Amino acid sequence: MVTAGKDKGKSGKIERIFPAEARVLVPNMNQYKKHRKPQGEGRPGEILTLSRPLPVGNVALICPRCKQPTRIGWRWDQTKKVRVCRKCEADID
Ligand SMILES: [Zn+2]
Repeated sequence: MVTAGKDKGKSGKIERIFPAEARVLVPNMNQYKKHRKPQGEGRPGEILTLSRPLPVGNVALICPRCKQPTRIGWRWDQTKKVRVCRKCEADID
C-alpha cells in the first residue's frame, strides 16, 4: 500500500525492487505521461503512460491475513528466517 505521495491509499503488488535506489516499482502507481514525438514514417507521435518507482519509505506491506498495513517482523523457523506480520504473527513469504 502506498502511504505517501499522490497515490496515497492505493494498493498494488510490487513488481520490481531497486535496492540501490531504495525504490520499488508498483504497476499503475506514480504514473506519468510521456509524450513521444513522431519519429519519421510509420512512427507517429504517441502518449505513453509509465510508472515510476516509488521510494520504499512511501509504501507499506499489507498482510495477506489481517489485511492491514503492517511492519515486518522476523522469526527463526528451525534453520531459516521467516517474515511475519507484526500484527497477527502470520507468516509472509
Ligand atoms: Zn497480519
